[in-house]
Amino acid sequence: MNRRSFLTSALAFGAFAATGAQAVAALDKGRAKSGAVGRVVKSDEEWRRLLTPEQYEVTRRKGTEAPGSSPLDKQYALGTYACVCCDLPVFSSKAKYNSRTGWPSFWQPVNRRHVREEKDRSLGEVRTEVLCARCDAHLGHVFDDGPEPTGLRYCMNGVALKFAAGKA
Ligand SMILES: [Zn+2]
Repeated sequence: MNRRSFLTSALAFGAFAATGAQAVAALDKGRAKSGAVGRVVKSDEEWRRLLTPEQYEVTRRKGTEAPGSSPLDKQYALGTYACVCCDLPVFSSKAKYNSRTGWPSFWQPVNRRHVREEKDRSLGEVRTEVLCARCDAHLGHVFDDGPEPTGLRYCMNGVALKFAAGKA
């Protein structure tokens, strides 16, 4: 390869690399816009290792924390509540309210695509389970006795959430 053709291929490669980076940036932008969140998949063993026993019990085994047990229940500072397993923002302090149930409650998720809902027929009744859309963590349930403007009550386990103070 002479010097000239080497330079040409190097330039061509550089152009390709730049296009690739732009394509990835465009993809990320598109994702952020559409709210698509990707997937985080780990084995049961990995989750058990990464989480505290209580976090594991609630998020991976669909447990429920004792009412009033989470400091996040009475937390009203500005900020974002993320899934404790994968850090995906799921709720904002803007939609948090005091439901007097003992569980952190919200009237809407931060983005509809960041949570997934499923029918839950345990305990002899039909409830709507709320899961993290990225890693399937069990977060809590949603009921239709919430406040305006949605009338929904997202009843969450504080142990399934990680609060980050700041812009809500
Ligand atoms: Zn998650």
